[in-house]
Amino acid sequence: MSDESVRIMCPNLTCRKVLAVPASARGKTVRCRNCATTIRIPATLGQAEPTPPAKKSA
Ligand SMILES: [Zn+2]
Repeated sequence: MSDESVRIMCPNLTCRKVLAVPASARGKTVRCRNCATTIRIPATLGQAEPTPPAKKSA
């Protein structure tokens, strides 16, 4: 389970590249290799939460 990967689509509408990142990247940000947009990886995937996390990353 530690080798689990997360797939996330780039929010950049002109890019929309699907990126595969390690599960350890959850809750962190990655940079799209295609357009350099910074993408935040949700801490939890699979279930959409109605409320955004209150934790603020400095
Ligand atoms: Zn992109």
